[in-house]
Amino acid sequence: MQTIDNYNFSNKKAIVRVDFNVPLDKTTLEVTDNTRITAAIPTIKKILKDGGAVVLISHLGRPSGGYEDKFSLKHIVSAVESALGQQVIFAGDCVGKSAFEITSNAKPGDVILLENLRFYKQETSGDDTFTKQLAKHGDVYVNDAFGTAHRAHASTTVLAKYFPNDKMFGYLIAKEIKSVDKVLNSQQKPLTAIVGGAKVSSKITIITQLLDKVDYLIIGGGMAYTFVKAQGGNVGNSLVEDDYLSTALDIMKKAEAKGVQLLLPVDTLIADSFSNDAAIKTCAIDAVPDGWLGLDIASSSIELFRKAILASKLILWNGPMGVFEMENFQQGTIAIAQAIVEATENGAFSLVGGGDSVAAINKFNLADKVSHVSTGGGAMLEYLEGVTLPGIAAILE
Ligand code: AMP
Repeated sequence: MQTIDNYNFSNKKAIVRVDFNVPLDKTTLEVTDNTRITAAIPTIKKILKDGGAVVLISHLGRPSGGYEDKFSLKHIVSAVESALGQQVIFAGDCVGKSAFEITSNAKPGDVILLENLRFYKQETSGDDTFTKQLAKHGDVYVNDAFGTAHRAHASTTVLAKYFPNDKMFGYLIAKEIKSVDKVLNSQQKPLTAIVGGAKVSSKITIITQLLDKVDYLIIGGGMAYTFVKAQGGNVGNSLVEDDYLSTALDIMKKAEAKGVQLLLPVDTLIADSFSNDAAIKTCAIDAVPDGWLGLDIASSSIELFRKAILASKLILWNGPMGVFEMENFQQGTIAIAQAIVEATENGAFSLVGGGDSVAAINKFNLADKVSHVSTGGGAMLEYLEGVTLPGIAAILE
């Protein structure tokens, strides 16, 4: 298989699908978090170092299918320039005469950024005529946008077929794939998955998939109360999905049958309202008084989870342990993040993936102390669930 490392980009024009879907300040339209931009830099630099030119393509936001100033990638040009340390040529269209004029004149060392792909509806529909146009911008296709790898869009999937002998993953996707494979397919043990977040319903597929792999399954966050209620516990006004009580019992039974140690919280920090200013106290997880709701795990649960995490060689974390957005309910999530960091320092491999656990680890400034933080929210979840991502399959085909 072609990899970015064994490919020589000398005198080539590389179309690089990046994920520059970055947050912008609503008023100034300046980039407020450049994580995704800096993450793409190693791939761009490798191509430039070989003596190639780079044509960056990306989407930004969800425009309704035509030009919208607030979704223009022109707003991110200076952020890309600072991250890269060189000038970036911006083309105000991704297809069309002006864009082709720029890319056809590209010289080795040039970095060109094309305008938002989603200004054309054909991007998301995966239109073939549009894709063929995009393909004309270069002689090699590099996909480095893991966050959109679960979408069969023109730039993320269809484009690959126009480069049957010149297509590959960028460093970012390659690392994402390697990290998930390491967690799910390595023989190292114990493997612990920590699943939290709001709802059982949104995590059921991933939990089911993980039951075949893990030694410990730690369940925290809002979804834990559905498990507690299913066993007859009192959860007061805590978040519960009544439609999923039997699913929760089913998961517990399956875990037992497969020899998976399922760990649920034993105590909880409860509040008399869903607010940072609410009155708070601690109680047993199955004895939440009426009118109170559990918003974080408490000290005995932290200890229980910590022990399992510290005993693990492979760790996967998806979803916070409590309402970490509020200061009074972030301790459980912080403690779990710290335990993962400690285990990593002791030699475990740790992967933090999917939505809010990534936000949490960033918030607590611990992202560089775990083995890998995934950039692809939905894509990461689908990949963990065992789904073949079209963007990945298109490169491997
Ligand atoms: P998810 O996107 O499913 O990972 O859910 C993340 C959300 O779950 C975060 O916004 C948390 O605030 C929320 N969450 C975590 N624990 C609780 C809880 N005990 N009650 C309500 N929401 C929670």
